Amino acid sequence: MNQVAQAGIRTDEPARVRVVLATHNKHKLEEFAAIIAQRMPEVELVEYDGPEPVEDGVTFAENALIKARVAAEHTGLVALADDSGICVDVLGGAPGVFSARWSGKHGDDAGNLTLLLGQVADVPDLHRGAHYTCAIALVRPAADGRSADERTVEGEWDGTLAREPRGTNGFGYDPAFIPDGSPLTAAELDPEVKNADSHRARAFRAMVPVLHDLLVRE
Ligand code: IMP
Repeated sequence: MNQVAQAGIRTDEPARVRVVLATHNKHKLEEFAAIIAQRMPEVELVEYDGPEPVEDGVTFAENALIKARVAAEHTGLVALADDSGICVDVLGGAPGVFSARWSGKHGDDAGNLTLLLGQVADVPDLHRGAHYTCAIALVRPAADGRSADERTVEGEWDGTLAREPRGTNGFGYDPAFIPDGSPLTAAELDPEVKNADSHRARAFRAMVPVLHDLLVRE
């Protein structure tokens, strides 16, 4: 069983539309699969297996587009890619697009979290505002005389930074991120609650009509 099937896509029913998701991040695959299964059950998510582009954009939307373009070109399928990160108010929006490698080593979630909390250790509660941002790019490849089509949407999830990490769910900065209106960190939330309200969920909700439009439009 591949990762996407493990993540919750039903493989025993006929798929009507195949869309490739350009990420190998297991946590994101699970979150996307849950969101897509709920909102667009006619879509079969296919895990991307192809060349990896250099993500050298300076915005989330640019990086998402870079990834979706390569996946669409390589597979010939409509491709979705996301780019996301945490933006801290007192740090002028950093780590931002550098969230995954803030401590210098790509994907070092524990190191990134420790460094960020250390950087804001003496910042008072009033000024600990932060938000997650997720950009999703959707690229329909050129085919049958039709030109390529590209769209991007964004979702934000507002909150504050905790003083100490709490919780074991989620990934990345979740143990330090307290969504507005919640006493719990994102890592203490039930995954279903996070999936329903996260920056990715918000971006995906914005993307649903766009994806629908691109899939049905000639
Ligand atoms: P990306 O894989 O290039 O989009 O980088 C995403 C990075 O941003 C991750 O490695 C995390 O550090 C952080 N991030 C994005 N979304 C989340 C989330 O939902 N929870 C925790 N950290 C996140």
